[in-house]
Amino acid sequence: MIEFKDIPKTAMVIFAHPDDAEIGTGATTAKWVNSGCKVVYVLATSGSSGSNDLSMTSEKIVDIRSREQQDAGKVIGVEDIVSLNYTDGELESNRDLLSDLVFCIRKYKPEIVFTHDPFRMNNFLHRDHRNLGFSVMDAIYPYARDHLHFPDQIKGNIQPYKVKKLLFWGSDKPNVTVNVTGFENKKVESLSMHKSQLPGLSLGSEYGKNLLNRLRDSSGNFSFEYGESFRMIEARS
Ligand SMILES: [Zn+2]
Repeated sequence: MIEFKDIPKTAMVIFAHPDDAEIGTGATTAKWVNSGCKVVYVLATSGSSGSNDLSMTSEKIVDIRSREQQDAGKVIGVEDIVSLNYTDGELESNRDLLSDLVFCIRKYKPEIVFTHDPFRMNNFLHRDHRNLGFSVMDAIYPYARDHLHFPDQIKGNIQPYKVKKLLFWGSDKPNVTVNVTGFENKKVESLSMHKSQLPGLSLGSEYGKNLLNRLRDSSGNFSFEYGESFRMIEARS
C-alpha cells in the first residue's frame, strides 16, 4: 500500500446511483476541492428504483434523489453534476453508455477518474456498478484517447483526451490510500444529505460513527488517522 499524495487540477467521479460518489470518494474529493481541484460528478442513473417505501413512485424518487445529490455535492464543493439519466437497475455496458462517458471525459479532461471496481470477487456487486465500472475503463482506454473512436464528437473543445490515472473504490485489492484526516467529517456530512436513502445519518449516529471507523481502518499502518483507499491503474505513457 502506498500513500497517494497527488492533487490534480481536475478529477471526475463516475457513479451509478445518488450517494455512491460520497460513499466511494467523499473525504478525498472534499480534501482536493479544498486545495483547488475542480471535481466533476457524472451520475449514470436517476436512482429511480431504490426504495422500500411502497407508496413511492419513480417520478417522486427521481426528484428527491436529484435534489439530495446536489446538496451532497455542495457539501463536498462539487458544482458540476452531469446526469446521464439511464434507468436505475437497467444500466448496460453498451455503445450508448460508452459514447456518453467518452464525451464527458473529452469535455472535462480530468487527470484522474474515480469509479466502481467492477472486478470485486469477494462480495455481491450491484449490476449497475459492475457494468458502469467496465464501461468507464473502456471509455478511458482506448475510446476517449483515440481520435478514430466516436470521431463525430470531435470538434471545438471536444478533443481526444488521455486520462492519467483511474482509481476504483470498493475494491478487494486497494493499492493506494489518501490521507483524508481533517476531511473525515465531510464524508459523513455529505452522505447525510441523502436523507431519503440514509435517514437519521449524522456525525453522532451509529452509522456515522461506523463510517468514521472505516476511514480509521483504511489508514492502516500509516501515521495519519483517517484514510480512503483505492485500487489505482495508470495509463502507459
Ligand atoms: Zn449504487
